[in-house]
Amino acid sequence: MGVMQVSSFAAGQWIAPSGTTSKLYSAANGQMIGEAGCDSLDFQQMLDFARDKGGPALRKMTFHDRARMLKALALYLNERRDGLYALSHMTGATLADSRIDIDGGIGTLLVYASKGRREMPADQVYVDGETEMLSREGTFIGRHVCTPLTGAAVHINAFNFPVWGMLEKLAPTLLAGVPAIVKPATATCWLTEACFKLMIESGVLPEGSIQLISGRTGDLLDRLDSRDVVSFTGSAATALSLRSKNNILANSVRFTAEQDSLNASVLGTDIDPGTPDFDIFIKEAATEITTKAGQKCTAIRRIIAPASRIDAVVEALTKRLEAVTIGDPALKESRMGALASAAQKRDTLENAARIGVECERVFGDEEAPELTGVGVEYGYYLKPMLFVCNDPDAAKAVHEVEAFGPVSTVMGYRDAEHAIALANRGGGSLVASVVTRDPQTAREFVLGAGASHGRIYFNNGDSAKEATGHGSPLPHMVHGGPGRAGGGEELGGVRGVMHYMQRTAIQASPDLMTGITGNWFRGSKEITAPAHPFTRSFGELQIGETIHTPSREVTLEDIEHFASFTGDTFYAHMDEAAAKANPFFPGRVAHGYLLLSFAAGLFVEPNPGPVLANTGLNSLSFQKPVSPGDAISVRLTVKRKTPRNEEYGEVAWDVVLTNQDGEQVAEYELLTMVSL
Ligand code: NDP
Repeated sequence: MGVMQVSSFAAGQWIAPSGTTSKLYSAANGQMIGEAGCDSLDFQQMLDFARDKGGPALRKMTFHDRARMLKALALYLNERRDGLYALSHMTGATLADSRIDIDGGIGTLLVYASKGRREMPADQVYVDGETEMLSREGTFIGRHVCTPLTGAAVHINAFNFPVWGMLEKLAPTLLAGVPAIVKPATATCWLTEACFKLMIESGVLPEGSIQLISGRTGDLLDRLDSRDVVSFTGSAATALSLRSKNNILANSVRFTAEQDSLNASVLGTDIDPGTPDFDIFIKEAATEITTKAGQKCTAIRRIIAPASRIDAVVEALTKRLEAVTIGDPALKESRMGALASAAQKRDTLENAARIGVECERVFGDEEAPELTGVGVEYGYYLKPMLFVCNDPDAAKAVHEVEAFGPVSTVMGYRDAEHAIALANRGGGSLVASVVTRDPQTAREFVLGAGASHGRIYFNNGDSAKEATGHGSPLPHMVHGGPGRAGGGEELGGVRGVMHYMQRTAIQASPDLMTGITGNWFRGSKEITAPAHPFTRSFGELQIGETIHTPSREVTLEDIEHFASFTGDTFYAHMDEAAAKANPFFPGRVAHGYLLLSFAAGLFVEPNPGPVLANTGLNSLSFQKPVSPGDAISVRLTVKRKTPRNEEYGEVAWDVVLTNQDGEQVAEYELLTMVSL
């Protein structure tokens, strides 16, 4: 293979490296494989292109359009994974590591594509939370809505996950409707570039929605303003220097950081050596030390076990680490590949030495490991290293120094409180895990350690088969941590999309609110359609379309019939004296479910038509008892419409039941599927 010229993609053009370039090396054999650099990039032009071209094109689309776009992108990449695996070996990654990076990234796009369709509207405005009643009469209401930021998202990524690192940030950004400028870490930027090329080639994304910097960001960050956002992954030192730039502070540019983390894993006092649960603890620790050669932001750096179990933990872990085959990541038999760069290997050894000053090394050393594969002797390989810390209370380095490689330290604790205190000594981490079977231990840990960790992962034999792994950030769950871990959050489903949107409090009349959000609000104009709404297709139904039904009296016979028919003979419906004694009821009352059934009987149009199914109801509440002799009627209004597929969509109806005095007795949101 020739020397790769790793290009940037700016304002719709591929731009080859120029000026001062960085040489790129294969982590597997140390050979130079390419160069990258971007001195000639015009960063203002890139920003303008994102803001003026990409942003408007993305904002024209609905969340559903953008979700479909993410899915198409994921499927395109998925068919071309093999080409990426081939390049990924040169980052030091084994095939298993590459799958975490490449398949994990594609999987994240797919999860966001699905969440965008299921949890967000087919609209450009996202409504956040419930309606706030700001007035007595209901003529002035409040609601929070989110709209996309109108600038660019600058993504600065770490070297360890060149594909996932890019895609996990792009998925929520693009779903929000914001264009991105991606800057991968230089050490592994050729793999990011290869994946980026596929994304451009797919033709799925609107022009200007993504750009790539293969090199340094120059003065880009000095040009950002309040419309923009920076999402950073890497070291705490770089995060600090970037987030404290004058321009970032002066313009309150959003800055999300995900940085170093001294993650912990705790063995519960209830877990004995030799049990399957103990093996789970050991297996997770070994996996985290060796996967990606320990270069994972979520890897377990501190193994915290009851003091009486330390010897058993070290023995079991050593046995597993001894069995790890290190070598050419392209070979199937290699279980652990190389570190990403010579600098990374040097840093890891230096930091391991700092830990070694106060801890005893019980496995591994800085000598070159025994390797499998030809030519690997020049790669950046390292043996796993295990330390034991005999005085974790007095020790400092083990809680402060992150050796970003296959390095971990075992330490003992006295009791639950001590375990929590040690886990929290990391000063804020991305993830802590606990292996226990005891729910009380789990609760105590969450109360004691929750504030110091972005994610807490519990595992034991009941969940191990399906558990997703201590070190795996999932698109559904928040990824980020307090303090030292950067204080930011990524992913977490729709929460992650919000980092790229502005939440605005809207205060307005119901009619204006309906117009703004596309959802009908009580008090808004009602529309009378030419026919019963159940005879009208999804496309024909208008937001606000309403029917008011005639009323129906609820008799004592109805209540008794319903009671004997369903078997619900609860005393409030059947026993006058007992019902009267209950502070909620004036005497015998109708069943809530009888009222729901009568409501359906009042509003339904029975003949076959576009309404396909009743799929559920939300927010049901019974507000006033209905006594025999009362009469109920129903208002049914089209509140929200969400297309689901090519054949049908979901219609949410606002349903209110009132009695003969016009008092509201029940309300709910009815969900139906209606053909297009
Ligand atoms: P860095 O903080 O040096 O780099 C992270 C990213 O920031 C890279 O893309 C880098 O680009 C970029 N960068 C560095 N300086 C600047 C700058 N002045 N302006 C703009 N961008 C800049 O981290 P490393 O990748 O070198 O990793 C170092 C340490 O960070 C690891 O040892 C580990 O402790 C931690 N880390 C944490 C991760 C996490 O997910 N929490 C992931 C990876 C690392 P370039 O490559 O061109 O320098």
